[in-house]
Parts: sequence; C-alpha cells; structure tokens
Amino acid sequence: MTALVIAEYESSIKDETLRVVTAAKNLSNEVWLVILGYELEKILNDGRSIEGVDKVFIIEHEQLKQFISEVWAHQISILLDANSNIDTILMSSSSQGKDLLPRIAGMHDEEKLTDVIEIISQNDFVRPIYAGNLHSRVTTSQKRKFLTIRGNKFNPASMSGQSITSEKIVFEDCDTVTKIVSNSSDNVTDTIDLLSAKCVISGGRGLGSAENYKNILQPLAKKLRGALGASRAAVDMGLAPNENQVGQTGKIVAPDLYIAIGLSGSIQHLAGMKDSKVIVAINKDPEAPIFQVATYGIIGDLFDVVPELTEKI
Ligand SMILES: Cc1cc2nc3c(=O)[nH]c(=O)nc-3n(C[C@H](O)[C@H](O)[C@H](O)COP(=O)(O)OP(=O)(O)OC[C@H]3O[C@@H](n4cnc5c(N)ncnc54)[C@H](O)[C@@H]3O)c2cc1C
Repeated sequence: MTALVIAEYESSIKDETLRVVTAAKNLSNEVWLVILGYELEKILNDGRSIEGVDKVFIIEHEQLKQFISEVWAHQISILLDANSNIDTILMSSSSQGKDLLPRIAGMHDEEKLTDVIEIISQNDFVRPIYAGNLHSRVTTSQKRKFLTIRGNKFNPASMSGQSITSEKIVFEDCDTVTKIVSNSSDNVTDTIDLLSAKCVISGGRGLGSAENYKNILQPLAKKLRGALGASRAAVDMGLAPNENQVGQTGKIVAPDLYIAIGLSGSIQHLAGMKDSKVIVAINKDPEAPIFQVATYGIIGDLFDVVPELTEKI
C-alpha cells in the first residue's frame, strides 16, 4: 500500500516534511509526495531528490500561491479519490498540518490521528497526552489513516540528488469564501525557522520588555545561528511575536541546543522543549523549575550573563 506525504516548504522543502517522509517509510514501501503551490520549479526539484520518495505529484496554480486550507484540501481529496491504493496520508504537526489534514479526513468521513511520535505497526501509534506527561498508544481500524507527525522523533530523510518521477495533476476550481488580504510578521529580524532550527534561544517574562527581548536575545541568536523562541507569558506581554511561542499551546521543538533565558520552566513550556538535546538555563532564581531539566544552568541576572556570554562566544 501507499503513503502520501503532503509537502510543506518555504524557499525549500521543510525539514519537518523530510522527517514525515521517514515516518511514512516506516509504514509503507511506497511513499508518494504531493506538492501544491505556484511557480514550483525549485521545490519540485527538491522533492524529486528526497531519498525514500517513489513518486512526486505536483499541483500548480495561481490560486495555490497562498495556503488556503479548503482549496488545498479539495485538490488532495481529488487525488485520493483517484488513487484508492493510498492508505495513509501524512503531514507534520505544524499549524498547516493541523488545519489541512483534519479537513481532508473529514471530507473522507474518517478521523485524524494527531501528533504521532512513534509507529509501532501499520495500525498502532503512540502520541503524547497531558502536555507530554503521558504517552498513549492508539490502535486504529480505519482503512485510510490521516496522521500528523511530530517530526522531532524521526530523522529527516536526505536529499540524495536522485531524480524521482513526477506527475502533474490538473488543478480543479474550488469555491472559497476565504481570501488572503496580506501577510505580515512582527518577526522581521529573525529569519531562522523555529521548527527546524538546530539552536533555539527562548526568552521569558524576565526580559521585561520587547526592546530587551530583541536587544538581549538577538545578538546571541545571530552568533549561534539560532531561532528566537518565547514563553507564553513573554508573548502575552507583547515581548515576542505569537509565532515564537514554545510549549503546549505553541510550537514543539527539539533542537540540539535550547537556551532558556528568564523563563521559569512551567510544565506547559517544558512540553514544547524538553526533548532538546542540550538545555541551558539562565535564571536568577536557583529554585526555578527550568533547572530540573537543564543540562547546564547559570544562576544569575540575565542582563549581566547574556551580554557576557554573547561577547565570549
Ligand atoms: C492551558 C495552558 C497552556 C499554556 N501553554 C503555554 C505554552 O505553550 N508555553 C508557555 O511558555 N507557557 C504556557 N502556558 C503558561 C505557563 O503556565 C506559564 O505561565 C508561562 O510559561 C510562564 O512564562 P515565563 O516562564 O516567561 O514567566 P514566569 O513564570 O513569570 O518566569 C519568569 C522567570 O524569569 C526569571 N527572571 C526574572 N528576572 C530575571 C533576570 N533579570 N535574570 C534572570 N532571570 C530572571 C524569574 O526568576 C522567573 O523564573 C500555558 C498555561 C496554560 C494554563
């Protein structure tokens, strides 16, 4: 049987999609990739070079230039109707995945299974519950499975440079009431994607202001080529943009290095970063819970410690 991975990309195929390909390979001998969008030449070349992918579908149209869930779901649904051998549809547990995949599952009258972290067999999966404090084993008897994958438990498939066959699918018109008027981001200076960054520098309430968040964290992030993260308190206070939030209700990351600065380490925050390989905590309170998960801890005032650390690096 065949697994279909829905590709996510910016200037190239995202690391999360490469990880989903690895998960798909654990399930099926045959793995297909579908890429939707507009002016996709470079992304198609990337997709065709992914090891483990057997075929690439491309659906290209101006209406797919921006991600609009119902338009994308309609195209994929048609692809599924035409290929009854596709028994598993996978996407990363990103905000796009959480939007698109349940919609397609609903259109096919099936349930989705989210945040899969382990594949035991074709019908048996493990997913976290209670903010990652417990793991639940879920068995499904669905003929077609719709899974979002928490990528950090799977290694990314490599881009081998091979050139896999691709097939163009004709875009089907689809009525939608949704229109993207404009896209904007507060996060103009941080260009590294939080989900695929090897190093994340996160700040919390202790930073006190948006200016400090930027002036204290950004130089360190630049030196370490890291992405900026934040606690929810930092986001709620307007210190950091919403898309930087790490945690139970934010992004789940597991970089090689996570530096937590002026954040306490609430269970909701830990749920989003505790799988990081090395955790460094900088906090003036020696009792802060973040020190319980930290590989290295620096007890001190962040306004002294971080500039000195940045300078030494
Ligand atoms: C349903 C639910 C979901 C949630 N989801 C999330 C989530 O996804 N992500 C998330 O982060 N939170 C989440 N929260 C919120 C969470 O419970 C905490 O409130 C939040 O994580 C606290 O953020 P913080 O660590 O920045 O702030 P605080 O807990 O106030 O910690 C600030 C820390 O900064 C230190 N500090 C202060 N000044 C300095 C200084 N000068 N130098 C060094 N250290 C200093 C203090 O010692 C303190 O430890 C959620 C809560 C709920 C109820």
